[in-house]
Formats: sequence, structure tokens, C-alpha cells
Amino acid sequence: MSITDSLQPADQVNALLDGGLRMLITSIVDNAGITRAKSVPAQRLRIAARDGVGLSPVFAIMCTDDGVTSSPAVNGPVGDNRLIPDLAAAAPLGPDHTVFWAPADQLSQDHEPIDICQRAALRRQAERAVAAGLDVKLGFELEFTVFTGDPGDPQVATLGPAYGVLATLKLEDFAVELLEALDAAGVPAEQLHPEYAQGQFEVALPPASPVTAADQSQLARLVVHRVARRHDLLVSFAPITVAGSVGNGAHIHFSATLNGVPFGDGGGPSEHARHLIAGVLAEVDGLTGVLAPSVVSADRRVPGNWAGAFACWGPENREAALRYVPGSITSRPDSANCEIKIGDPSGNAYLSAAAVIASALTGLERKTVLPAGVDHDPATYSDSERERMGVRRLPRTLEDALVALEGSTVIRGALGEAIVDPFLAVRRHDAEALGALSLEDRVRALRWRY
Ligand code: GLU
Ligand code: MG
Repeated sequence: MSITDSLQPADQVNALLDGGLRMLITSIVDNAGITRAKSVPAQRLRIAARDGVGLSPVFAIMCTDDGVTSSPAVNGPVGDNRLIPDLAAAAPLGPDHTVFWAPADQLSQDHEPIDICQRAALRRQAERAVAAGLDVKLGFELEFTVFTGDPGDPQVATLGPAYGVLATLKLEDFAVELLEALDAAGVPAEQLHPEYAQGQFEVALPPASPVTAADQSQLARLVVHRVARRHDLLVSFAPITVAGSVGNGAHIHFSATLNGVPFGDGGGPSEHARHLIAGVLAEVDGLTGVLAPSVVSADRRVPGNWAGAFACWGPENREAALRYVPGSITSRPDSANCEIKIGDPSGNAYLSAAAVIASALTGLERKTVLPAGVDHDPATYSDSERERMGVRRLPRTLEDALVALEGSTVIRGALGEAIVDPFLAVRRHDAEALGALSLEDRVRALRWRY
């Protein structure tokens, strides 16, 4: 909960200024998954809140390497939009309460909605879900790698063992300050732990309604970067940060009550949850194009890495794209959810969440039947056994994932052509510019972009 979310706009500005604000950063996440920002000083806050700040539409076609591609949806460098900070969601980036952040909506110069705005696309799907009687909650898990040294020659900050306490102790000061800063920002971590790879950590965010959850994933990433800098550490949210290591996921825990009926039903998904999960499963290839769209994403999505490489669902199955989590006996059924494991941090959280909700809703509308869950590692079955069970690998290349996205009427319809067309152009530019490089060089090209 933000300190301003129940206040009128003028009071929001006053509360932020009284709260110590010296600079407001307002940002969007673009179609390359990169956070692009503008900042205003305290004395401009009132005007920025009313008028917004200028933003070229070209940001919709800006690529991971900062190259600018083209799309019929965007008229190149001509035109201007407004970036309007949503002060109801404003938060300090730490307990010092000097630098605040707010997510921005993109509006026209006449302050009308525009169809290239990724946050608006999520809001539309969230509203659709509410109209269908659903109370959707999303919880993001953010994995990242911590480095020391020079960005040109970074060294992982911890040497394991995997999930080992020594990694926590090595970065104890960073860890404590990070948890406190997340708390001050209004996005208290559920937990922080060392992950499998050297230097790798994960912070799990609490479940929240869709737009808030996507905002908070953006906010939490900024806080992680900011605290790291104060400790002379470097952080990367790229999907792979060290060639040959397991990658960083950005899993989304999805759940929804339907007219108050919980998502979980004893040990398994309830009836509406089965349709929702089936809807996500039906679109899983196209979703891969939205949720894991970088030139190293397919390298992360390999069997054995717990990155959900197989198109199937399964109870507590970490090798399935969709892991059903029933929750422990004391928290069931309220904590039941479906962990969507395909995503990585190169996706745009707003688009990822919007595409997931649209797919789930379509499953509910069509009463899509959920196939049997897979309760073993799919890699342990033979090809013919997997074929019999209807289990396949997710797309193995970025292009295959983008083609699946292009072919998904459900996702295209939900996000709209004005987003999907530029999105595909951006990701294909990346594929052309970087796709032929060695994994080491692709990793190097993306490491400090996220
Ligand atoms: N690092 C894995 C990934 O890339 C996830 C590990 C886990 O299950 O938390 O998705
Ligand atoms: Mg993890």
C-alpha cells in the first residue's frame, strides 16, 4: 500500500513533498523489457502530476541495443505523448525517503488513452477478469545475479554452495538493507534466498492485484539495483548472466477466486481454476513469446534448469511450464496457485500479466478441459511416452516463440495490434542484431540492460 493511494491528486503531491521527496523517477517498461525513465525535481512535482512529461512514441520501437526499429503502429520520431505518473502508486526507493518512484501511464497530448500503453493493456485485462467475477492475484518471483568488480570484467559475488547460507552471510549487509528498502517501498519481500547459481538470489513478492503486482515487480527491481549500488555491487536481471550457468526466471504465481470460490480445492485446482490453467496451457507457446522474449531466453529454457521447459502442467512439478502449488496444510486453499515458470526478466511484466490473464479468461469462457497433470520430470519419459501424454518442449528458439505469439488470436486480441506489432518488430530486431552471436557475446550484450 502506497502512502498516497487513497488521497486526492493535490493531497498526493503534498504527502510526497511532506514525506521528503527530492526527486521523482517515473518510468515505463518498454517492449524490449527495459525500464525507461524521466525524473522531475520536487518543485516540478505538482506540474508533472497534472501535465505529465513528454514521451516520444518511438519508445515503443526502441530495442534492447537502443536501436530504433519500425512498425506501422508508430510514426517514427514524429509525435509526442504524455507520461503521467500514477501518484497513487508512488513509493520511496528506500528508508531515506528522498528519491521516490511512480509508474507512468502513457496518454495522448489530450490526456486520452493510447493503445501503445502497456500498463493500460494490463488494466483492460484486469477489468475483464473482474467483470467475469474473478479476483486475480499475481505474485512475482524475481531472480537476479549479484556481481563485484568492473562491469567489463564482472565477478560473481558469491561462490555457492547452491541455496547455501554462506552466500547469504557473504552479502549479509546488502541483504538486510535490501529487505528494509523493499519494506520502506511498500513491497515487503516474502523471502530472499540464494539461488542455484553462483551470485544468484531471488526475492519473492507478495501476491497483489494485477496492475499493482506488475508495478511492484518494476519497483522491486529498481530497489534491488539501488541498494546494490550502495554496496558497490552490480546486479543483473538478464535471463542469463553467465554463459553456462542456470538463468534468472521471473515466475508468476497466478491465482483467482471466482465469486469467492477459492482457486484450490483440497489437494488440486477447483473447477474454475482447472479452466483457467487449461486456458494458459492452450496458449503456452505464444505466451513464451511474450514472457521470455530475449535472445538468450531459449538458452535458459532447457530441461533440468527448473525453468519449466515442457508444455504441460503438474502438481509441484518444477520442470512443467505450469506448476500447480496446492499450499501447505495450514494455508490451504487460500494459498493455492499456479506458478507460471516460463517467464524471465527480459519480458515486460505488464504485457506478461495481461497475456496470462487473457489466456486464462479464454479458458474459463470456453470451458477448456485441463489434461491430466504430469507428476514426473517430463525429461524422464521417452519421446513416444511424451507424445502419448501430449507433452512437448516449449519453443526452442526465439523466432519459434515469436511465430507462436504472432499466431495467437487470444494474445494478439488482448494486447492489441498497436502493442504486438511493435513488440514483434523490437524482438526481431534483437534477433537479427544479436541472434547469430555466441552465447557468451549475447550474454555480454544483455547483461547490463536489465
Ligand atoms: N532459475 C530457474 C529459472 O530460470 C528457477 C529456479 C526455481 O525454481 O526457483 O527459472
Ligand atoms: Mg527461484
